[in-house]
Amino acid sequence: MKQNYFDFIICGGGASGLLLLKALREDSFFNNRSILLIEKENKNKNDRTWSYWESLDGPFDSMVTKKWSEAQFCSQNLNFEFDLNPFQYKMLRSAVVYQKIFNKYITAKNTTFLKAEVKDIVSKKNLTEIITSDGKFQSEKVFSSIFEPKSMMNQKKYPVLQQHFVGWFIKTKNASFDPRKILFMDFDIPQFQETRFLYVLPIDESNALVEYTLFSENLLHFDDYETGIVDYLNSKGITEFEITEKEKGNIPMTCFPFEQFNTQNLLHIGTAGGWTKATTGFTFMNTRRNIRRLIPYLKAGDNLNDFKISNRFRFYDLLFLDVLKKYNSHGSGLFSSMFKNNPPVRIFRFLDEKTNYLEELKILTSFSFIQITWFLKALINRIFKIFAPLN
Ligand SMILES: Cc1cc2nc3c(=O)[nH]c(=O)nc-3n(C[C@H](O)[C@H](O)[C@H](O)COP(=O)(O)OP(=O)(O)OC[C@H]3O[C@@H](n4cnc5c(N)ncnc54)[C@H](O)[C@@H]3O)c2cc1C
Repeated sequence: MKQNYFDFIICGGGASGLLLLKALREDSFFNNRSILLIEKENKNKNDRTWSYWESLDGPFDSMVTKKWSEAQFCSQNLNFEFDLNPFQYKMLRSAVVYQKIFNKYITAKNTTFLKAEVKDIVSKKNLTEIITSDGKFQSEKVFSSIFEPKSMMNQKKYPVLQQHFVGWFIKTKNASFDPRKILFMDFDIPQFQETRFLYVLPIDESNALVEYTLFSENLLHFDDYETGIVDYLNSKGITEFEITEKEKGNIPMTCFPFEQFNTQNLLHIGTAGGWTKATTGFTFMNTRRNIRRLIPYLKAGDNLNDFKISNRFRFYDLLFLDVLKKYNSHGSGLFSSMFKNNPPVRIFRFLDEKTNYLEELKILTSFSFIQITWFLKALINRIFKIFAPLN
């Protein structure tokens, strides 16, 4: 083995880097392959709460904080509760995931961890070189979850929105929540010409994660999210509570083709690879699904730039983002039409990209006449943009 050469190098030990490490180390096919994981931070904090839906039992169930079988959707004109069956909605705290995966796999045979900052990733003829704060390393198969938003932000062809939010874990003085039911989206709050909603995951009757969330272009001042949470809680009669933890995030919502930065020896993964669902910001399950698809590619020794994500759902996402960007103050109405006129399970399957054409047609026709004209206009504009340069 050449010095500083590894069969696989994973840059970034967050969600996608660790899920990839886990998948590789759990597959005996890769037992003799050396893996280097490079991460700049101590990954031991609850810096993210990953939630997702899946059918009954799943691979992370032993790490899950809480599961729910019921949900609620609200907007000004709609308030309904539904059963998530056959899905369950699940909450994972990142510290548990980081520690369990890291501790279990980093000591495995042929696995090396380097706590260092990746300074540069250089594609060479037959391999990729990683320049770090602690030396240079090479591999023919490099996976990077280091997100570089610059090229996405410096183009106009693909709309870019953000799912941005501040969340508080709160403990209320009195019983205030129904612990059986999540509040998936509550748009019945002032929209301020944007798409704004509350998201509540109750752990028990007096503990919950409450997030003030936007799907829009620009971030708010931190205080504005917090005011949004307080106003919401007060409107529900919750005035006595303590904040036990806070989290914040902004997740890109875009169909920008991140795969253009892949090479035969370098694959971008996680958010950096465009694995975030463009219309919702959900990334965790998409990452798991993509890693499952990736493993056979690696076994076959295929070029990494053959690993593509291109399907009709990406085009639907693109049209939806075009509409949501242009009519951002109408986001509540768009989501309400979907939830009013479809069984929610169809919507979750659609977001999982598992529906058929007939179901997709039903979703399209669940929008109002005026909303459908927005999608048709977006479609026509898109056709003209197909051959346009990136900027
Ligand atoms: C607060 C928050 C809550 C979220 N909640 C959900 C949710 O409920 N459901 C869902 O599906 N998605 C959620 N997401 C979106 C998404 O799942 C997460 O952002 C997820 O962590 C993305 O995984 P990743 O591997 O792409 O990036 P990350 O998890 O951010 O991993 C990237 C890693 O690279 C490291 N790194 C960066 N630069 C360097 C460098 N130069 N050198 C070395 N290391 C570097 C970072 O320290 C980090 O550990 C959430 C995101 C946030 C921020």
